[in-house]
Amino acid sequence: MNKLTRRSALKTIGKGTLLAASTPLSIPPELQFSDKKHFISLCWDDGFLKSSIKTARIFEKYGLSASFNVVASGHFKSFKQPDEYQITPKGDFVLWNEFEAGGHEVMPHSYKHTNLAQVPLEEAKHLINICLDYFGEHLNNFDAKKSIFHFPYNASTPEIESWLSDKVQSYRTGRTGWNGDNALTFKKLLTCTAYGPHSTELHLQKQIDELLARPEGWLIYNTHGLDGEGWGPMRADWLDRLLGTLTEIESVAVLPPAQVQAMFK
Ligand SMILES: [Zn+2]
Repeated sequence: MNKLTRRSALKTIGKGTLLAASTPLSIPPELQFSDKKHFISLCWDDGFLKSSIKTARIFEKYGLSASFNVVASGHFKSFKQPDEYQITPKGDFVLWNEFEAGGHEVMPHSYKHTNLAQVPLEEAKHLINICLDYFGEHLNNFDAKKSIFHFPYNASTPEIESWLSDKVQSYRTGRTGWNGDNALTFKKLLTCTAYGPHSTELHLQKQIDELLARPEGWLIYNTHGLDGEGWGPMRADWLDRLLGTLTEIESVAVLPPAQVQAMFK
């Protein structure tokens, strides 16, 4: 695969300078950049083998890092599909390490894709613990404290979020795709939107159009597979055209969530 380092990914979007604190923008002054106003994070969940490889190649074509959020036991022979969209085969940690070394972001998306809002709190804690342990043992350079936990089904509870907030850098759950309006939550709580089970293309395009109509903002959008794979898929050639268009827009930066957060440290 093409070598794409975090450094080169950041280079492609420029360094930018902080705006004056008095500028009347909804993003807090410490989060404002002068040259990039519209941040888009596409979060590719579930780790389908075929779709993940295609997605990585398309992002690399444009010099971009992708955000892959994978199920710790998804590649086990014993993995049981919790819903009809958890298709197999999924990628394994050889592939995830290759992606990570190539500059993509690989983050935990649970141990076995259980809806953690629908099990007892202690069970949810256990499943998150063994997920983070598995990542620690199998994903090079993984540090739970610097990770983003992407909740399966974007489903969480205040109790799980509160417990998890000390274990990881951030977590991503449901609610809205608009992030960055609140400096307090920017570093811990990330929220996203998604559309399915049929094609997500129209809905995603509308969200991006809405973002671009705003003076600035950060859209986190939960995506899954390509060409019919997974919940709410899109066509590979549609994604290719989308990234081609977005990388031509001066104000837009397409980045994984942790890279957006790192820009505003
Ligand atoms: Zn999922």
